[in-house]
Amino acid sequence: MTDKSFFIDTMKCTACRGCQIACKQWNKNPGTKTLQRGTHQNPADLSVSTFKLVRFNEVEVPGGEPKWFFFPDQCRHCMSPPCKEVADSKVKGAILHDETTGAVIFNPKIKGKPADFKEIREACPYDIPRWNEKIGGMAKCTMCIDRIKEGMLPACVKTCPTGAMNFGDRNEILEKANKRLEEVKGRYPDAMLANPDDVRTIYLLIDDPKKYHKFAVAENATGLTRKMALKRLFQPLNSVRHMIG
Ligand code: SF4
Ligand code: SF4
Repeated sequence: MTDKSFFIDTMKCTACRGCQIACKQWNKNPGTKTLQRGTHQNPADLSVSTFKLVRFNEVEVPGGEPKWFFFPDQCRHCMSPPCKEVADSKVKGAILHDETTGAVIFNPKIKGKPADFKEIREACPYDIPRWNEKIGGMAKCTMCIDRIKEGMLPACVKTCPTGAMNFGDRNEILEKANKRLEEVKGRYPDAMLANPDDVRTIYLLIDDPKKYHKFAVAENATGLTRKMALKRLFQPLNSVRHMIG
């Protein structure tokens, strides 16, 4: 077993939501009561029972025609997960980083205080983790680690009918993503891969990331929130103070 990654080719996504349903089924997550909110997207947001959400954004382009942006949102399984960095200092054992696959796994059995989990969510540059009030833990995408350890694909990838969802060894996935980017760059000069060096869920986007989703890419190139970056910046100073004190 080696380091794994997803490649999500948003150009091939039709917003059928098969991946969203497959994720619910495999994780035995209950259905969510939905509302007609005037958009194809449902439910409105990720939750402890919705680890994968196909976001749908309608943007008016010059000429008055609407343009649709589909974004199958999920945990990025960051290379150096900021969520775990906070958890290690606040709620030990709440987040594990699998050494072989790179999957970032939340342990719902570890209980914590709401304020700690709030800080963990704020540390995530992609706004992924959600709080489960009933069990006092957090939940999110598991990379289907139980499936991949048995040689199966993650449920969302297995079910995707268009080839938008891809999964495999990180080197191969990076190669595939870069090759696809080269293919589309001619037609879409703004095409990009979202933070490919920092995450294990790599999206191909062909327009301004904000048109897909507020958190489609991290605020900065290193995949850290401003709060985390500042914390890191002042860490050496704090250690020196600790040594002197
Ligand atoms: S996307 Fe967020 S929740 Fe997922 S590993 Fe990265 S920091 Fe953690
Ligand atoms: S299953 Fe594939 S095509 Fe359908 S919404 Fe998910 S990523 Fe898009």
